[in-house]
Amino acid sequence: MLTLDFHPTGRHFLQIPGPSPVPDRILRAMSLPTIDHRGPEFGVLGHRVLKGIGQIFQTKHPVVIYPASGTGAWEAALSNVLSPGDSVLMYETGHFASLWNKMAVRLGLKPEFLGLPGAEGWRHGVRADMIEERLKADTQHAIKAVCVVHNETSTGVTSNILAVRKAIDAAKHPALLLVDSISGLASAEYRHDEWGVDVTISGSQKGLMLPPGISFNALSPKAMEASKSAKLPKAFWAWDEIVEMNKTGYWPYTPNTNLLYGLAEACDMLLAPEHGGLEGTFARHRRWGEGVRAAVKAWGLQIQCADPAVYSPVLTGVMMPDGVDGVDADAVRRIIYERFDCSLGTGLGKVKGRMFRIGHLGDCNDLTLMGALAGCEMGLKIAGVKLAGSGVQAAMDYFGSHPAPVALQKAA
Ligand SMILES: *Cc1c(COP(=O)(O)O)cnc(C)c1O
Repeated sequence: MLTLDFHPTGRHFLQIPGPSPVPDRILRAMSLPTIDHRGPEFGVLGHRVLKGIGQIFQTKHPVVIYPASGTGAWEAALSNVLSPGDSVLMYETGHFASLWNKMAVRLGLKPEFLGLPGAEGWRHGVRADMIEERLKADTQHAIKAVCVVHNETSTGVTSNILAVRKAIDAAKHPALLLVDSISGLASAEYRHDEWGVDVTISGSQKGLMLPPGISFNALSPKAMEASKSAKLPKAFWAWDEIVEMNKTGYWPYTPNTNLLYGLAEACDMLLAPEHGGLEGTFARHRRWGEGVRAAVKAWGLQIQCADPAVYSPVLTGVMMPDGVDGVDADAVRRIIYERFDCSLGTGLGKVKGRMFRIGHLGDCNDLTLMGALAGCEMGLKIAGVKLAGSGVQAAMDYFGSHPAPVALQKAA
């Protein structure tokens, strides 16, 4: 039934938390001809994207760009700074933290997985106090890195990265801080240098509004130093040759030319001073998150994130009520997809079938979100879920009475 020439009328509502919709302006930029990656024009593009992406990560240090998905950049981060058998402290916030933990095992590291017990851990952010306590007990400094996810895309819970930095410092522990902000970057506030992060991992298809296909490692001087003696095998992922050649605007191998055109355009859009720059971008997503949560509350449904201090501005996880006969979250998603041409995120791992996810990352506006919420409300009703009230009305009330400052209304 699903074929590649399936073209319903109007725009598909791609409301999953990544890939996010790619603005026309970026698609047009990507349609430029593929040029010689060793020619003179390419160096100009290389310098431009490296400068732009540094501003997005808020770092003065190198950012490595890989022609790979986010998973590749996870591997790059671990393999550049660690050695076989190294202990690493990871924190279980959800499915993506669990996948990164599995990767660490496959790479021959010894990860310890901290977290709250049971399903409850997937409703809260990282507990910095638990990290501090664990590091203080590690008097021999066996732990070489602390790995946390900034925006847990499987649940819609963020973590306070600065608090984790402070916990490591309070324990006077030399471990590196590695942060996955694959879905947080460019939608949720993020400051690589100011927060003292050693490696930040990100990807193209979430807040950066690009198609999938490139990913990033933002570095610190301490991480670059560690990479000189780290012993995990690395060749394609090795930072040294890439960072060295990037000084000239080029890469040691063929970079993803057309995605880099798109990245240059995305940086211009996200940083545009007339739309409030990065702070404006963060404010827009905070406001959209508020509106979507107002809808979920009006429906009388639970938000997966149990702690309002760490609600995600990137996506909202909506939990299914108990006792709806034979209808799980994926059945509701299927109805919304088939009837209203709107894709929502599925529940992953421990919360499969128990919740669905509404993305408000990347390229959105009030009315695309209203459309998505209308699709959800209709789909929930068709599925037989009893709603306490109209989420659509609540979101309209919120957006109507909380105008974004004019400068922040549009990203493009
Ligand atoms: C999407 C995502 C990943 C995986 O990235 P891929 O591009 O699918 O390889 C990892 N971590 C988080 C938090 C994500 O949102």
